[in-house]
Amino acid sequence: MALGSNIGDGEANINDALTLLEDYGNDISFGALSHIYRTDPQGDVKDQPWFSNAVVRLEIASDVWAPEGFLSTIQAIEVKMGRLRGMDPGGPRIIDLDLLLFGDTEMDSDYLTLPHPRMLKRAFVLVPLREVAPKLVFKDGRTIDQVLSGLNYTLDGLNIAQK
Ligand code: ADP
Ligand code: MG
Repeated sequence: MALGSNIGDGEANINDALTLLEDYGNDISFGALSHIYRTDPQGDVKDQPWFSNAVVRLEIASDVWAPEGFLSTIQAIEVKMGRLRGMDPGGPRIIDLDLLLFGDTEMDSDYLTLPHPRMLKRAFVLVPLREVAPKLVFKDGRTIDQVLSGLNYTLDGLNIAQK
């Protein structure tokens, strides 16, 4: 799962979201959490604060959670934290929780596309993802490093900027 925030204290918001998810109980266990990076806004709205971005690896009980149900849960956390769903297309948000991968699930419904459709284009996703899943190989056979080598970005400490 990817976590992002660019309103208020991004690091605190990311940690708050993780705490709220932890409250859902013991059928979610937390694996590696990446560093929290500072990243320049991508997409259509460039004139907004830099984001804090991280990726966490979760282990969830597949007999309890279907992908759609898990998405509803993380969307409920977004709302609980004050995000107004649908009101901030591309713009600043207190918290953004995206599912990058859900095991090997591939799907494309109105609500959920897996793997996340834009993840291969975004250094702010791939760099933290590499920390928590260094051996990951995408369906096209490429490693995270191979995908990153095709992107025009700079990584300076924990700062990521992408052209
Ligand atoms: P974005 O994350 O692209 O900036 P939003 O957070 O506003 O935009 O999400 C828009 C919609 O994307 C959500 O309502 C959700 O139903 C849909 N969506 C599709 N696939 C995914 C995914 N893999 N993870 C999170 N949301 C997704
Ligand atoms: Mg989102």
